[in-house]
Amino acid sequence: MSIWHEAGNFFAVVRGDIFQADHAMNKSYQQEFPFGKLSKGKKRPDRLAHDTQCVYCRSRAEARDHVPPKCLLEKPYPKNLLTVPSCRRCNANFSLDEEYFLVALAQVGFCPTLLSKVEEGGVVDRALNRSAALDDRIAGQLVVEEGGSVTLRPELERMAKIVRKIAYGLFIRRYRQCTSQELFYPIGIYHQNDPMPQPLIAAMYYWPGIRRKKWEVVQAGVFSYLFARGWMGSDPPLYCLVEFHKTLLAVVGCPDPRTLPTNMH
Ligand SMILES: [Zn+2]
Repeated sequence: MSIWHEAGNFFAVVRGDIFQADHAMNKSYQQEFPFGKLSKGKKRPDRLAHDTQCVYCRSRAEARDHVPPKCLLEKPYPKNLLTVPSCRRCNANFSLDEEYFLVALAQVGFCPTLLSKVEEGGVVDRALNRSAALDDRIAGQLVVEEGGSVTLRPELERMAKIVRKIAYGLFIRRYRQCTSQELFYPIGIYHQNDPMPQPLIAAMYYWPGIRRKKWEVVQAGVFSYLFARGWMGSDPPLYCLVEFHKTLLAVVGCPDPRTLPTNMH
């Protein structure tokens, strides 16, 4: 069972203790492996060899889903964006949550790229003008704190859905293994002004597995990610860290690619 706690100036969500992550999760993925290992496909690095099934629902893939979603990047887009095969329905199903994620991110961001989206005529301003429902939702999530500052209490489940999906897509591209999104568990989403949980601070600044590792920069200042293992226990879990516009940091627990069965080549 995942428990989401809300805390901090903006918000922090914590599922248990990041570094005592639930090893039970690592067992649950032994139940189903729809795809198994994918071959390398060196000639067309953006294509998976086993490319015909939607990675989300396993029905026939008719489209490519960008990882990360293009709306979370800046134009001009970087070349060679990663994609995964998906069906049109899954592709469309995520789009409202992706839009919500972008709007929430822009509301709490300080960097110029995000601020310009909220200004009149910016992409977030246009989205809110287009959809009265979205505008109302966001307005209803603004809270006046003691002292008069206004903060956003976003819909964490929707944001978690997007960070999970992104970590899943990055994992597929990195490890060439499709499993199931359900095995990826969002641990936290932190604003840069949030007090981070102590174990996460320790990890970010002292844990060589993160501190010495180079972040994969998809777009500088906009989207970076890192896969890193925990250090505790004999079988430390794998985490995916994702940074959005230097504003939000998401941590997602991943299944262990070394133990995923390879029933398909
Ligand atoms: Zn699908």
